[in-house]
Amino acid sequence: MIAPAPRNVDVLIIGASLSAAACAKRLVDAGLETVVIERKKLPRHKICSGILSPRGHRFLVENFGPLPRETMHEPTSCRGVTFHFPKAPSIDIDFIGGPTPHLYRKHSDWWAIKRSGVEVQDETSFAGLETAADHVLVNVTRRGRPEQFRAKWVVGADGPTSMVVRALYPGYPASIPWFLVGQKLHDIVRCPLDQAYFHFWFHPGLGHYTWSHARDGRQIVGVGFDVGHNFDAAHQNVVKYIGKRHGVELGPARDSEGCGENFGLSLINRYVFGKGRVLITGQAAGFLNMMAEGMSAALHSGAICGESIVEAAFHGEPAQYVYRRAIHSEVRRCSDQWNPLLIAFGRPHEADVWAALRKLSWSERMMVIGDVVMFVRLYAKFKWGRQILGQSVERLLSGKYDARRWW
Ligand SMILES: Cc1cc2nc3c(=O)[nH]c(=O)nc-3n(C[C@H](O)[C@H](O)[C@H](O)COP(=O)(O)OP(=O)(O)OC[C@H]3O[C@@H](n4cnc5c(N)ncnc54)[C@H](O)[C@@H]3O)c2cc1C
Repeated sequence: MIAPAPRNVDVLIIGASLSAAACAKRLVDAGLETVVIERKKLPRHKICSGILSPRGHRFLVENFGPLPRETMHEPTSCRGVTFHFPKAPSIDIDFIGGPTPHLYRKHSDWWAIKRSGVEVQDETSFAGLETAADHVLVNVTRRGRPEQFRAKWVVGADGPTSMVVRALYPGYPASIPWFLVGQKLHDIVRCPLDQAYFHFWFHPGLGHYTWSHARDGRQIVGVGFDVGHNFDAAHQNVVKYIGKRHGVELGPARDSEGCGENFGLSLINRYVFGKGRVLITGQAAGFLNMMAEGMSAALHSGAICGESIVEAAFHGEPAQYVYRRAIHSEVRRCSDQWNPLLIAFGRPHEADVWAALRKLSWSERMMVIGDVVMFVRLYAKFKWGRQILGQSVERLLSGKYDARRWW
């Protein structure tokens, strides 16, 4: 079979998610011919709790307009996060500025992509690329058939397991730790956990990342666990624990799903922004805020990526150079959330941690600190401590994070 001639476009974006929608909006508004390819059929399912941060909410409204009802699950909003500890009392931490939407990713992402005005080709997978001085040749597989694009710029917005990143840096996946997360949706017999909050457990006996929240009349119970460990056993352990500790009674789980996560890159400032005419954005680049909140950073980094390409297209500066300069603002926002100096002396989060702590007595606050320290020890094996401290000092002295650590 003879492959058809490559299609010429200004920009090809891989992955039809929120970072892609934000990036596409900037490119389409500037009049650049842009195509998004998505491997799944659209609208596509995406595993996600869907709790949008206030900044992410503002971005969506300002760029795409008010959110239609179908872009949200029930309950339609979330007031904040409830932290639970083995010994300390649980604390409710409210979002600053009030409740935010509980997004139904299948519909919200599709809505944002459509609102960007970009052309989309679904059931089309990225299959590889060849870079040249003035273009990038991209191989894709569209409904089983090979096709090619010849793009002036390519954007990898294809999420944590990005094939675009793998094509640029074959050694990269083996050089970072991978995390697995899984969730099951249960029928509810009795659930005293407040439905208005996302619940998170700082409990070393439960796993790296343990959460629960209400969705469409059912209860999600999720757990992060090491590669090689058994999801069902880790999940069952959490169900048993929340039953005993919080009186939660759940019926059988009807849906179960999981995925791999590149968690950790924003903690240690090891982002991946691409090479030459290929730019990486969203979670593929390593953006993940605290509580695995990645949508606001995906939106903002996607927009910065799009703006950098527009700048390159109209003013001739290399897009990669512009992007790496402009992305410092988003790196600061994201990595600040993990920066111990800023957590202790600043306010890097969009939820009011200090207001919640002020409601506790001094001895209860000490219990919280003790429980968090015990929990954080779970992560000791990744040897991130020194890197986090080094980057925090760099941020204190220079006002930004060290760009030489980026891929
Ligand atoms: C269990 C869980 C819960 C989460 N909860 C929250 C939350 O409550 N709040 C929050 O803000 N964040 C949450 N996150 C994180 C959030 O989902 C991500 O950070 C965010 O979706 C990243 O957006 P993105 O645009 O970078 O890419 P993604 O949303 O990952 O999308 C990438 C897209 O690229 C497509 N793609 C991948 N490979 C290819 C290919 N080869 N060719 C073509 N297309 C491809 C995918 O199908 C997908 O559509 C959660 C994540 C998980 C796993």
